[in-house]
Amino acid sequence: MIKPYENFNQIVALFSDLRCNRIPGQLVIQLTDRCNAFCPQCGMRVTKKFKRSTLSADNVKRIIDTAAQKGVNVVSFTGGEPFLFLDQLVMFIKYAGEAGIEYIRTGTNGFMFANPGSAHFESRVKKVAETLAGTPLRNFWISIDSAVPSVHEQMRGLPDVIAGIEKALPIFHEQGIYPSANLGINRNVGGNMTKGLRVNATLEDDDHLGSFYIAFKKAFRKFYCFVIKLGFTMVNSCYPMSIDHKKKDGSGLSPVYAANSNSSIVSFSAGEKALLFKALLETTTEFRSQIRLFSPGSSLYALYRQYVYDTNASYPCRGGIDFFFIDAKDGNTYPCGYRGNENFGRYWDMDTNALDRIINDCRLCNWECFRDPSELFGPILNALHQPVDLMRKFFRDTKYFKLWFNDIRYYLACDFFNGRLPPDFNRMGMSGKNSAF
Ligand code: SF4
Ligand code: SF4
Repeated sequence: MIKPYENFNQIVALFSDLRCNRIPGQLVIQLTDRCNAFCPQCGMRVTKKFKRSTLSADNVKRIIDTAAQKGVNVVSFTGGEPFLFLDQLVMFIKYAGEAGIEYIRTGTNGFMFANPGSAHFESRVKKVAETLAGTPLRNFWISIDSAVPSVHEQMRGLPDVIAGIEKALPIFHEQGIYPSANLGINRNVGGNMTKGLRVNATLEDDDHLGSFYIAFKKAFRKFYCFVIKLGFTMVNSCYPMSIDHKKKDGSGLSPVYAANSNSSIVSFSAGEKALLFKALLETTTEFRSQIRLFSPGSSLYALYRQYVYDTNASYPCRGGIDFFFIDAKDGNTYPCGYRGNENFGRYWDMDTNALDRIINDCRLCNWECFRDPSELFGPILNALHQPVDLMRKFFRDTKYFKLWFNDIRYYLACDFFNGRLPPDFNRMGMSGKNSAF
């Protein structure tokens, strides 16, 4: 069984990182921006006209070699649709494993599971599952946008894909791969329950927000029941990514990663976002013993407070410090997919230590890949480097710290979301209630 930091060298490396005010590194490599799906919430959908790019194999290998030298622990291969280039993807996963990267992740929109009634469906899926099982891949996600199959299939443009996923999951489980359902939070998540709600109400609009909150809480519940029934044992939620684009005064963001859009399906006001985080926290609390849920309660609660009180309630993001994004279009490195004005050039030429001086605390978006681990490591760095500040925070809001401790217990009970192991429901059930409200 793989456990985080189980060997001595890893523990030493972790402490050395923490002592230097650093946390284990993470790199998101966008292999391609090509895609075959129709998602309205994404700027890379197949109908969008722009010049498509794919990173060269030599560059990806060089990036992986550099990441390994820098002690990066987590590498995610994303797209576009990375499975359009399965052979290359498999080669990169193996290469990263051989280079010493421990946490390797990738995912799909599920196009290979569409039309499950077609000839050789099972043998095709089995071949993919066997191929992935022969790699050190740790987490494999499959996107699901709605608890209503027809809504998801229409959004993705993938006919019968839900039935195909249901058929495919046992085949993956047989090979020791436990895929995660990846929910990109959007207004269709609950089908009609959330679809008709008015868009972008303000924090003061109490009537709307009351029904919004109730509808999304029900929708998340429905979604979790749905994916459990499909056979998933793990879920990740991608937080709403409606962002403030760069304004004349220089504030706002400039995305390089086109996995967002201005579509009303994924646009939420600050008040709505706060309630989404609250609804998600309460629902994940309810389902934590039934399915492995990545979203940490402390992170959801911190984001809720950030939107309600407009404070620096959450810990700053480690994007541009320990976490980076490589863009398929130019092959360059960015602090994340959304700070496109800060091009750090080639990853192998980048002096990570020199960046400390130019990066400010950032809380400008809700990209869970970067925000969740930043939040989980926040109190640890705080304890080591600003213990008085941590004590102050502790007495100001003990609820937050209760959630944080429960998250750590839950992450341990889930073997840090090892997607190569089945869930241990006994341990998950004993890891503590997570309620904050
Ligand atoms: S969300 Fe993913 S699958 Fe959908 S269009 Fe964008 S890259 Fe493709
Ligand atoms: S919060 Fe993190 S992911 Fe979001 S813009 Fe800032 S550095 Fe990037």
